[in-house]
Amino acid sequence: MADTQLVWNSILSEAQKRVRKQQFDTWFSNIDFVDLQDKKLHLSVPNSFFRDWLKNHYAHVIEESAKTVTGSDVEIHIGLSANDPSQKNDFAAVEPAKAQAGQPVYVADTPAPLRSDFSFPSPDGDLCLHSQYVFDNFVVGPCNNLAHAAALAVAEAPSQAYNPLFMHGSVGLGKTHLVQAIAHTLLSKHPRPKILYMSCENFMNQFISAVRHGDIESFRYRYRHLDVLLIDDIHFLGKGDRTQEEFFHTFNALYNAQKQIVITSDSSPKEIPAIEERLISRFKWGMVTKLSQPSYETRVAIIQKKAQLKGRTFPEDVVNYIAEHIASNIREIEGAIIKIIGYASLMNKQIDLLLAKDALLDTIDRERTTISIEDTQNAVVKYFKIKLSDLQSKRRSRAISHPRQVCMYLARKLTGYSLEEIGGYFGGRDHTTVMHACEKIENLRVSDSLLAATIEKLTDELHKSVSKGR
Ligand code: ADP
Ligand code: MG
Repeated sequence: MADTQLVWNSILSEAQKRVRKQQFDTWFSNIDFVDLQDKKLHLSVPNSFFRDWLKNHYAHVIEESAKTVTGSDVEIHIGLSANDPSQKNDFAAVEPAKAQAGQPVYVADTPAPLRSDFSFPSPDGDLCLHSQYVFDNFVVGPCNNLAHAAALAVAEAPSQAYNPLFMHGSVGLGKTHLVQAIAHTLLSKHPRPKILYMSCENFMNQFISAVRHGDIESFRYRYRHLDVLLIDDIHFLGKGDRTQEEFFHTFNALYNAQKQIVITSDSSPKEIPAIEERLISRFKWGMVTKLSQPSYETRVAIIQKKAQLKGRTFPEDVVNYIAEHIASNIREIEGAIIKIIGYASLMNKQIDLLLAKDALLDTIDRERTTISIEDTQNAVVKYFKIKLSDLQSKRRSRAISHPRQVCMYLARKLTGYSLEEIGGYFGGRDHTTVMHACEKIENLRVSDSLLAATIEKLTDELHKSVSKGR
């Protein structure tokens, strides 16, 4: 393999750390490496839609990753592959019986008007349901019982229980699982339901694609004749752009026709920075419910459930060990379970505590010796004597915005998280806001010795707190 290809592979691995898996799979797996010369990185993608999307949303990720790998600024050039598959129509109405992994779960009993020639950037897997994301596999605890009950009610009686249902919570806490569980239940109960489950990113892709192909009418028909619309990760909706406008009208049309709408987001309606007031108020018409971090007992139950789904029973001390050490994110808990099972089969050994500790050495060590965004937030709230909820809010008063900017700066300096991820911890702000905060504090600290001292003190404390272990 050429050296430059190896460099590109490393850039990709870096990028993978900076964006969510789903985003990575959707947007990065279709990039072809062309060349890297004179600090110019040439890439190609299947079509212009892809290119524009990458440029607008992920250029900074590629640039930052390239800089990390090569140590210098790299110019990114994205061209089109010779063979542009956007000409083909890879979206089709699928009947429930045919809806399975790998196929879009668009279910409609009126395929005729959908004949239109939508073209999509790629069949990006986002439209399919995970077979295990059903209610039976969802462990209910104090952290999620309200969201679970509401989701169940909607699945049992769409448009009658809560409309819209808005579920929010930070990453890995079960939003996608619940919204897909609703889809599974509807698919199993109704012979030909008109439901659509998709990520917000996909809604946007399809809208932009429809605009590009002058096919707005059938786009509208498709969305406005659904019985149930399930939209995952609404926080991706762009500020003031036409997709938000379109979503607003789609929402109104469905709502007025008493059709069910379910939405998930990484923050509460009012905390999503890019969403307009009129949509926020609509989201609040129905039921807004939050998923929080699971307690120790719930984590134990989730670990047992996940192990059981993989055909294993973990010894009690192994379950407790995982539950003690991985607290914030259920996706990471699942990753730990997979690691342990994989390690056991690799070593051809029984699963016991010793083996589990070995298998999770990296994961748990990393947890203990690195500073997390939550650590920086806790330190900043304590120092500035403000509330965590204010730090994460949209409030603009200087008493709040200054500590918030300091915190973003510390998170950027001390944790391995990307600008985008850091934004996620501050009420879903976008990466440019975080970048602006970092630049501002960096500049200020040069002239403001008090601020410089504060930052030094907080940095010291944070380093000390993790090296002592938690
Ligand atoms: P989110 O969409 O909130 O980021 P996901 O729904 O993708 O999170 O959940 C991440 C992983 O954690 C999935 O594998 C999901 O099955 C699992 N998970 C989350 N909450 C629960 C729960 N209460 N019971 C069982 N598994 C859960
Ligand atoms: Mg999700």
